[in-house]
Amino acid sequence: MKGIKEMKNFAILENPFHPLHPCSYVFLAVALLVSNVVAIDSGKTLERTVVKLADGIYTIRHKDAPDTFPQGNTTVIIGDREVLVVDSCYLPSSAREDIAEIRRWTSKPVRYLVNTHWHFDHTMGNGTYWDAFPGLTIVAHTETARQSSGYNPGWFERFPKRGDRLKQILEAGKDGNGKVLTEGERKEYQDAIAGIAPVQEEFKSVVDRAPNLTFDSEMRIDLGNREVRIMHLGRGNTAGDAIIFLPKEKILMTGDLVVHPVPYMFGGYPKDFGATLRKLDQLNFETMIPGHGEVMRNEKARSYVRLLIDFCEAVTEHVSNETHRLGAGAANLPAVREAVMKNIDVASWRRKFAGESKDEQDAFDTTFAAMITAAHGEISGR
Ligand SMILES: [Zn+2]
Repeated sequence: MKGIKEMKNFAILENPFHPLHPCSYVFLAVALLVSNVVAIDSGKTLERTVVKLADGIYTIRHKDAPDTFPQGNTTVIIGDREVLVVDSCYLPSSAREDIAEIRRWTSKPVRYLVNTHWHFDHTMGNGTYWDAFPGLTIVAHTETARQSSGYNPGWFERFPKRGDRLKQILEAGKDGNGKVLTEGERKEYQDAIAGIAPVQEEFKSVVDRAPNLTFDSEMRIDLGNREVRIMHLGRGNTAGDAIIFLPKEKILMTGDLVVHPVPYMFGGYPKDFGATLRKLDQLNFETMIPGHGEVMRNEKARSYVRLLIDFCEAVTEHVSNETHRLGAGAANLPAVREAVMKNIDVASWRRKFAGESKDEQDAFDTTFAAMITAAHGEISGR
């Protein structure tokens, strides 16, 4: 049974139009550049920024790649003896820049690299860290390690095909979830296609490194007077999401369970997502670093997590009701989608996440369409 399920998952991953497929990220990336409206936080990142959270703890937010692919946040945690890094981002050149900066901060070695999940924008820098720090241990949840070693190495070979897929979407005028591209999104697809070549050039010299130390529920590491807890709270963005919690400093890294200002709901497990976030909300944190987006503190962080919980639960309840009424399976998805869109207050949810920003609103519509697909698949038993 388990073997069949595993094979099925890999079949999903090989389908570029499935929302689990990381090419879906481009739908979001593309949706984020549409207007010049300045939001407080943006899904589109144009500059690299570093935030010092405490002595020896830094978060790096990366500029998007030339092909518009977003790059996950990286957090550096320095103990008395050694260093732990959370997520290695996407471009090897960005990982190299981060490593150079870590060496300016400390002469201690990076001993651990944690991958919060297997997606490329958090793991493609693994090989760069591996080369820079001999004896490095790459830590991940068992499921993340399985997905990484099964899927990530072939990314370098498959990458040139990404341009072809983007061209197909552009020609079709709508994304894999049927969302019609706006004029701004069409322009961004063209820019993404133009940015493929420099990224491909970078990947030519990279050797992928999968996690070599796995955990199932929780792992604790002492870096020397600095305790790091790595936990799996349940499925959400992927089957193997890890969060990293510093109990003394009350700092939490969420991976893509939390993305700000508009969540990533491309696949994953929307039905489990809310319950996993409820557990995350129980942790005693004051500072939260999302997988993408700005560092949030105290009430702002709490209220955003609770908004995400409400959103996940509201959408999956609607999708569940309509799936039971109209039917499971891919053939019934269009009817389920239509009914959900009619019955749920989309405009209100869009406003809560995207405010008045046109580009974030487009991002919301993209993630919302993908979320219905994912929830319907999950409730249908995929
Ligand atoms: Zn990500």
